[in-house]
Amino acid sequence: MGSYTLVCLECGLKMEDRLQNWCPLGHDALLRSEYRERKLKVKNFPGMWKFLEWLPCTSPLPTEGEALTYKSEGLARELGLKDLYISFSGYWPERGAKLMSCSFKELEASSVLARTKERSRGIMVVASAGNTARAFALLSEKTSVQVMAVVPRPYLSRIWVPGEKPSHFLLLGAEGGYREAIQWVERISRLEGTIAEGGARNVGRRDGIGTLLLSAVLEMGRLPDHYFQAVGSGVGALAVLEASLRLLADGGFGKRLPRLHLSQNLPFAPMFHAWKEGRNRILPELDLPSPEEAEKEMYATILSNPSPPYSVKGGVYEALRMSGGRMYGISNKEALEAWKWVREEEGIDLDPAASVAVASLVRAVEEGEVKEEEMVLLNLSGGGYERIREDFSLSPIEPSLILNKDTSLEEVKEVMKGWCSLAR
Ligand SMILES: *Cc1c(COP(=O)(O)O)cnc(C)c1O
Ligand SMILES: [Zn+2]
Repeated sequence: MGSYTLVCLECGLKMEDRLQNWCPLGHDALLRSEYRERKLKVKNFPGMWKFLEWLPCTSPLPTEGEALTYKSEGLARELGLKDLYISFSGYWPERGAKLMSCSFKELEASSVLARTKERSRGIMVVASAGNTARAFALLSEKTSVQVMAVVPRPYLSRIWVPGEKPSHFLLLGAEGGYREAIQWVERISRLEGTIAEGGARNVGRRDGIGTLLLSAVLEMGRLPDHYFQAVGSGVGALAVLEASLRLLADGGFGKRLPRLHLSQNLPFAPMFHAWKEGRNRILPELDLPSPEEAEKEMYATILSNPSPPYSVKGGVYEALRMSGGRMYGISNKEALEAWKWVREEEGIDLDPAASVAVASLVRAVEEGEVKEEEMVLLNLSGGGYERIREDFSLSPIEPSLILNKDTSLEEVKEVMKGWCSLAR
């Protein structure tokens, strides 16, 4: 076995990593990676790869990005917080932030691709509302891993790369919303030669995002008392919980889990509603009666995941319970105000999702959830879309096919075949 094993959170079975996302005994629980190294080691690699001992791969990719942490002055002063740190994932070279796809999905995609590349030559198939696909588009070229992304049609314009168009990346549009994109990925990944990426179930995703907390504790010196993030699938929040558990086991970064303060954008807020009612299950008819309408009405559409891993073992409900956490439902108005405020105070344009997290911190301070002297980590999970346009010309990526009710799997196969012969 390598320097880590996967463990099923239901039955405790330990297994070698063969790119699986499920327990072979059929349990619905998430798998988690258990690293042999119990101490946080900082290796001599650039960016997030310095945390290689806690990533599910043996060698780094040729990339240098990582989440950047700094101590806030502007926001901190206005909020009356003494110890507010910001984790920024995006493009902001003045601060040293160089995630060229402009969101923390690049941390996920990096680790997923490194894990995949070492174990398979298959074509990875992934569903995305935009940011994930954009990250994969950027990185597929650097890793020579072929990636097919299915993105809802309204969000296709989010897929671009700085510079040349990638040849290892195929974009498919899906009529409908995120739900339809996910269904298409399930169908397509039954084709020979493909691998379903797995979303939240992929340990690569969670451990990749986990590096943002590792970067942060190097700046902060210890685990924060509070962690704020906007959630759609909850991957980021689970990642931070798991990385926190590793840091607790290390022993040098404090003795308590950070409280998770997770926010969703109303009216698309299934986890917020379930949590408010004290339920460990999302009841769609109560919590998200009309996802299509809700998606149209919300500001931060990147958060529109209709079926997040909330109740599953190792999922968001458990993470909230373990950490004494809380959920927030944020209105478009609050999020927009937060967006403008950060632009003025910190001087960067945020992803709408990140402004939802900012609004939740404002609310938490108003409601006395955080004390003046407590250490807070605010995740600005995406941004710099305007800033990157000043430095690079962006190439939009066109979809090779739009999938609708009448599209057959044969058609998808044909498009795939043509592309494979070009890319290999
Ligand atoms: C995906 C995304 C989120 C939400 O993260 P999840 O892990 O899906 O909960 C927040 N902010 C940005 C910028 C994102 O791209
Ligand atoms: Zn199991």
